[in-house]
Amino acid sequence: MTHLSYRFEGIVQGVGFRPFIYMLALKHNLTGFVLNDSMGVEASIEGEILDIEAFEQDILTKLPPLARIDKMAKSVKVCEYFESFSIHESLHVSAKYSFVSPDFAMCADCLNELRDPQNRRHNYFFINCTNCGPRYSIIKTVPYDRSNTSMKNFVMCEECEKEYTNPQNRRYHAQPISCEKCGPTLSLYHIDGKKIATNYEAIKRLAMLIKTGHIVAMKGMGGFHLMCDAKNSDTIALLREKKHRPTKPFALMFASIAQIAQVCQMSEAEKAKICSQERPIVLVKKDMQNYDLSELIAPNIDRLGVFLAYTPLHVLLLEYLQNPIIATSANHTGEPIITQAKGIQEKLTGIVEYFLDYNREILNASDDSVLQMIGEKTLMMRSSRGITPLSMHYPNACTQKVLALGAHQKNAIALYMNEQIILSPYIGDLDNIATVDFFEKTLQTFKSFYDFEPDIIICDKHPLYETTKWAKKQNKPIVQVQHHYSHILSGMLEHNLDEKVLGIAWDGTGYGDDGTIWGGEFFLCDRVSYERVARFESFALLGGEASIKDIKRIALSVILDLAYEPIFEQIFKRFEQKELALLRQMHQKKINSPQCNAVGRLFDLVSVICGVCDKVSYDGESGLILENLYDVRITQSYDFYLQEGIIYYKHTVKEMFKDAEPSLIASKFINALINCCLHVSTKYDLAIVLSGGVFQNRTIVTALEIKLKRLYFQNRFAINDGGIALGQLTHFLAKF
Ligand code: ZN
Ligand code: ZN
Ligand code: FE
Repeated sequence: MTHLSYRFEGIVQGVGFRPFIYMLALKHNLTGFVLNDSMGVEASIEGEILDIEAFEQDILTKLPPLARIDKMAKSVKVCEYFESFSIHESLHVSAKYSFVSPDFAMCADCLNELRDPQNRRHNYFFINCTNCGPRYSIIKTVPYDRSNTSMKNFVMCEECEKEYTNPQNRRYHAQPISCEKCGPTLSLYHIDGKKIATNYEAIKRLAMLIKTGHIVAMKGMGGFHLMCDAKNSDTIALLREKKHRPTKPFALMFASIAQIAQVCQMSEAEKAKICSQERPIVLVKKDMQNYDLSELIAPNIDRLGVFLAYTPLHVLLLEYLQNPIIATSANHTGEPIITQAKGIQEKLTGIVEYFLDYNREILNASDDSVLQMIGEKTLMMRSSRGITPLSMHYPNACTQKVLALGAHQKNAIALYMNEQIILSPYIGDLDNIATVDFFEKTLQTFKSFYDFEPDIIICDKHPLYETTKWAKKQNKPIVQVQHHYSHILSGMLEHNLDEKVLGIAWDGTGYGDDGTIWGGEFFLCDRVSYERVARFESFALLGGEASIKDIKRIALSVILDLAYEPIFEQIFKRFEQKELALLRQMHQKKINSPQCNAVGRLFDLVSVICGVCDKVSYDGESGLILENLYDVRITQSYDFYLQEGIIYYKHTVKEMFKDAEPSLIASKFINALINCCLHVSTKYDLAIVLSGGVFQNRTIVTALEIKLKRLYFQNRFAINDGGIALGQLTHFLAKF
C-alpha cells in the first residue's frame, strides 16, 4: 500500500476536476480524498502502486474538456488506511492561485435536455452543467463555490441538491445549478417599469415583440444586448438613429449554422469556429446572391459579424423567431455594457421599449468576443466572453507582482504573479468616466480574485493615456513601454518567440519615442530591445485629434505637402473657404499639427481620394470600406519605395486622383502595402510578426500568409490594442 499526496495547479476548479479525480480513484480501486483550496486542488491517494500509476496516466490523458493542469506536484506520505474515497469541503488558504474561468456557452448535453420534453429541465432557460454555463460573470471571489457567486441566494431544491452532491452526476458541484423550481426568475418589463410576463411566457412575448418590429433589451451572460429583427429595415434605421450609430456594423445572432448558411458563405474553419464553445462573433462573407437581410446591418461592407445563440435563454428565444436578430451590446454610446436593470430607463429610454431581466446578478461584465479566420488560422480582434479571463503558465524568475495596464483604446489589463500571466476581458475605450470607472472596477476584481497588489506597474509611453495618468498616481515604480513595440511583443508571447524578429506594427495611432505619432513601423527586435529599421513618411495631422474623425483633413494635409496640381481642387472644394484658410495656416506654421506616420491614417487618406468617405463615424471604418472595394483581379500597385529607412508614398497621390475609379485606387493601394511588407521582409532572414489594428485587414494578412514563410499574427490575443498589456508584460519579464 502506498500513500501519495498530489497538488494540482492550473484550471482545476469549477470544471469538474474533483469528480474527475473521484471517478478515476473509484475506477482504480484507490482510497483517500480530494479537495479544492485557494491554490488549486489537493488529493491524497492510497492504493497499490500499479493502480496509482494507471490513475496518473488517466489524469494526464483524460482531462475534462475545460480543465488544464499547469503544475502537478506529488509527495509520498505515511499510509492512513482510508476506508473509501471522498470529496472534502474546500479549504481556505490565504494565497489565491486558482484561476477564474471565462463564461462558457451551453454544451451539447444540456441542449439535448433543454429540448427533451421528458426532462425536468425541458425548456429551462438557465440549464447548465459542470462543462458549461456562467463562471466569470457570477463569481465574487475564489474558490469557485456557490456561496461565492451570485447564485448564493438561491436555495437548491431537493432534486437539484441531489445532483449537486452526487460525484457521479454531470452536475456535481456545477455552482450555478438550478431548475425552474429553485432558480432565478425571468421578467419582461415595459421600459416604464411595468412587469408584463415572467419565465417562459416572457421569452415568448419578447420574441413576439421583436417579430413585430420593436427594439428590445435582454440580459444575456455578460450584460444586456439590444435586439431587433434583422430583416426589418425600418426598425434598424430607427435603432441607428437613436443610437447615433450611422454605419458601424451590427452583429447578428442566429438559431443555427444552417440559418447562417442561407445568407453567408463560410469555410469549414469558419463554421467550426462559429460552433466552438467560445461562441464568438465571426466575420464572414455575405452571400450576395441570397442575402435577404436588411442592407442597414453592415452598410458598404461585404462581411457580417455572425454568432450563434450561446445560452439556453438565447436558444429558446431564437427558436421562436424565424429570422436572425441584431444583437449588439447595450450601452450608452461609448460606455461599458449594461449589466443591471437598475438605471436602464435612464440609459435606454427612447431606444428600447421593453427589456427582459432576471434576478441573478451579473457581477462581472464581458462583451462578446470577435474574430475572423485567415484560412485555418484565427485572427483575434476582441478576446472577451468565452475566452477571457485567460490564464497562461509562464515560467519566469520574477518574484514581483506585475500589473500591465495596456493602452487607451480597446483596453484590457494583464497581471503577472507566481509564474502565471492573466489577461482580463475587454474593457473598452477609456474616453469617458464610465469606462474609466469600469477599468478601475475590473482592476479591483482581479486584485481581489488573486490577493494581488502590484509591486510594479507597466504602461504605455503616451502621456495623455488614462492608463499612463492612472499609473503615475499610484506611488509605485513604473515602467513605460513603447506602444508598437508592445504590439509586436504580444505576438511574440503568443507564439513563444524568444529570438530576433522582424516586427511590422501598423495601426491608427501610438506615441513614438520622438514624440510624434507612430503607426507605420518596421522593427528589428527581441524581447529586450528594438530598432526602428523602416517607417512610413510622416504628414501633419491638422488639428490633431480632429483629423481622425474629419478625415478629409488628412488628404488636405498630404496634398499641401505636394506641389500644386489642378486635380487637387476637388479636395479644396470640400472645405468652406474660412476653414480651408485656417487649415492652410496650421499646415504652414505647424500649429497644432503633430507629425504622424500611421498606416491606419493612410486608409483615411485613400478613402477621401476615392470619394467614398469624408468623415468616419467609427474606428477602422475607412479600412473596411477600402477592403470592400478591393478587386483581386487588379494586380497593379502604387509605387511606394523605401529609401534610407523611410517608405515614400506621397508622390503617388497624383496618380491616385488620375485613377479615379475607387476600386482601382483601393486595390492598387492595398497591393502597395502588401508589397512594402514583402520588400522589407526580403532584407532579413527572420520570423515576421504582424500586429496592430491595420492587420485586422483580411486581404493584407491573407496575401502575406501565402507569400511569407515564417509569418505570425495573433490568434488568441487581440491583434489591436487589446493585446498591448501582454506585450508590456513580456518586455518587463524578459530581463529575469
Ligand atoms: Zn452543459
Ligand atoms: Zn432545482
Ligand atoms: Fe495600437
